[in-house]
Amino acid sequence: MKDCIFCKLVAGDIPSTIVYENEGIIAFKDINPVAPVHIQVIPKNHIGSLAELTDDNSELASKILLAASEVGKKFCGENGFRVVTNIGNDGGQEIKHLHLHVLGGRKMTWPPG
Ligand code: AMP
Ligand code: ZN
Repeated sequence: MKDCIFCKLVAGDIPSTIVYENEGIIAFKDINPVAPVHIQVIPKNHIGSLAELTDDNSELASKILLAASEVGKKFCGENGFRVVTNIGNDGGQEIKHLHLHVLGGRKMTWPPG
């Protein structure tokens, strides 16, 4: 989608450090990490947020969760990690392209702010 920063990143129009890729998904390092491991897992096709997934995307929905799991296990190992997706204004979503934050490398706090 035009003017979507993550679509531009998928197209290679802006730089990123890709750490995982499969047919429908890429994962790359967050530009402003809030934890020692902070990776974004996104669909290559534009989907606005988790709230925009439908039955038509059920295969992708499963694949993106599995990708987040793979990335978390690979980069955070046995100590665990957190997967977060922000939705809309109250959810704190700044980039309107579905992304799962994979966070780890330190003990997370709860509840989030
Ligand atoms: P959210 O607030 O959930 O929409 O998260 C957006 C995330 O994208 C933030 O953690 C940003 O640091 C990250 N981000 C924004 N631009 C880039 C970029 N060009 N490359 C990597 N991560 C980015
Ligand atoms: Zn997009």
